Amino acid sequence: MSTTSYYSSASSSLHRFSSLGVPSKCWCGEGIITFTSKTKENPYRRFYRCAIGMMRENESHLFKWVDEALLEEIRMVEEKCRLVAEDVNALRMEVMDTMKLQNENFKKMEEVMSKKIEGEVKIMKENVEELGHVMAKSALKTVGVASVILCSIVWLWGRV
Ligand SMILES: [Zn+2]
Repeated sequence: MSTTSYYSSASSSLHRFSSLGVPSKCWCGEGIITFTSKTKENPYRRFYRCAIGMMRENESHLFKWVDEALLEEIRMVEEKCRLVAEDVNALRMEVMDTMKLQNENFKKMEEVMSKKIEGEVKIMKENVEELGHVMAKSALKTVGVASVILCSIVWLWGRV
């Protein structure tokens, strides 16, 4: 019965948070040893305790059942796994968000570029058309001038 009361007093003390899982040291500074319980309530159940605590039964030293400490250890590992999984999930979401943003930026860039190219093509087309007009006009002019010269020649021939 004394071991059970030790355990409950230990778990309600301030040290309970620092002694989660398998303990390595008692809060008195002494190293932890594994003992086997010989009580009727917990026969052959193994527990952690420091050597001083074993010698001075009336002092409050670390007491912990080995199976309970191992369970805590497993829960701590599970919690760590859960946190890592959450981290990985958060990271994945972040990467996806970044990729989405980059994709959107790329699309916007593409739109701007295609609009720019469209505009330039339009300007080029207009220039070509204008050039065509100018060339056609000048060609007409040339034809006009040529016909005037031809008419003059024919008229001059007629005179001779
Ligand atoms: Zn101790």
